[in-house]
Amino acid sequence: MLVYTARVLIPIASSPLWDGAVAVEDGRIVNLGPAAEVIEAAGQGAEVRALGEAALMPGLVNAHTHVELSWMASGRPPGGSYTDWLRGLLELREREDEETARAAAEAALGAMAARGTVAVGDLSNRTWAAGVLARSGLHGIAFHELLSSHIAHAEQRIEEAAERLDRIEAEADVAAASDRLRVILTPHAPHTVSAPLLRALAGRAEASNELLSIHVSESVEECELLAGDGGALDEFLREHRFRDPAWEPPKQTPVEYLDRLGVLSARTLAVHCVHLEHHDHSKLQARGATVVTCPRSNRYLGVGSAPVPALLREGVPIALGTDSLASNPDLDLFAEIAALREEHPGLAPAAILRIATLNGATALGLADRLGSIEPGKLAELVVVRIDDEEEHPLEALCSNPSEVHRLSDAPWSAGP
Ligand SMILES: [Zn+2]
Repeated sequence: MLVYTARVLIPIASSPLWDGAVAVEDGRIVNLGPAAEVIEAAGQGAEVRALGEAALMPGLVNAHTHVELSWMASGRPPGGSYTDWLRGLLELREREDEETARAAAEAALGAMAARGTVAVGDLSNRTWAAGVLARSGLHGIAFHELLSSHIAHAEQRIEEAAERLDRIEAEADVAAASDRLRVILTPHAPHTVSAPLLRALAGRAEASNELLSIHVSESVEECELLAGDGGALDEFLREHRFRDPAWEPPKQTPVEYLDRLGVLSARTLAVHCVHLEHHDHSKLQARGATVVTCPRSNRYLGVGSAPVPALLREGVPIALGTDSLASNPDLDLFAEIAALREEHPGLAPAAILRIATLNGATALGLADRLGSIEPGKLAELVVVRIDDEEEHPLEALCSNPSEVHRLSDAPWSAGP
């Protein structure tokens, strides 16, 4: 048995504990508490490793990213508006080279893990992304994302996608990682997926009690389009024939529209939710959906910021994502935590850290093993050096700390 002691333990599920310790056996947490008690309970045979002036906390959960877009980091699509960004993204994708894209995705996942992320909700349109995730050692969900707005093609699209899903799951690396990585079909957004396909994917998720992740209410343009008010996104979709001529705008908010199609449930990750009407909040709360916020991506696209404090007050669970390197300079969840803190200074650091750990793990169906320091969960923990003794450790963790290690790589000295 190994016992790790640290200046402060941040279990998330319970209050911070100064001079705390965690006992670990076979990669699982068996005990936590005041260091002296945990060491005594561990007995003579245990090895004590002192992490020193550090905070020990659960690994972070990045609930929304697209690692397959990592190659765009060197020349991101222009920000400032959702439609301009989308146009730039689609132009760039025409020049995509699979080998370069894979290598960039691998590097991005490595960098993400080095900064304390242990699980991801990843979205991809390509079939190779799940294999890259499987080899990364991270936990999570490889969402295979569908875009198809042509109403008559829904059945065919879902059949083709189900076949692709079978092939992805049969890949040796993906199959070998099945205890920590699931592959799931999911729709992209209300404006890129036809109503019959949204309904079919929601039905499929319900029948298998599986998650669904969807971009929703990210931009004003999306809301205008669904309200039937035209706008820049409407023009862009028509121009590129991404809009089925037979499609009639529902004249509803994106949340109302998705709810009518059965997309919102406690298994849904509603990503972005920047532009919500007040009754959308109640709808999300009533369905039990988790809102995943991506503050730096929203900032880059200039779309605004999600009403996180109001949603939390109304009982809507919030998780945190970086989105992709096509709209964010890095996939560092500690930097995202700092951005969330900056965006909503009234949010308590403890609430922000829960958003970045336990809430993400819960939304991705991983809370039985990740997201908090509790007996029985995996010891996929993070060690953060605390430099400033004056600053409260929870504040320090929300200020983009400079030195972060996975527990397995953290420097220690023989304790106690
Ligand atoms: Zn996204």
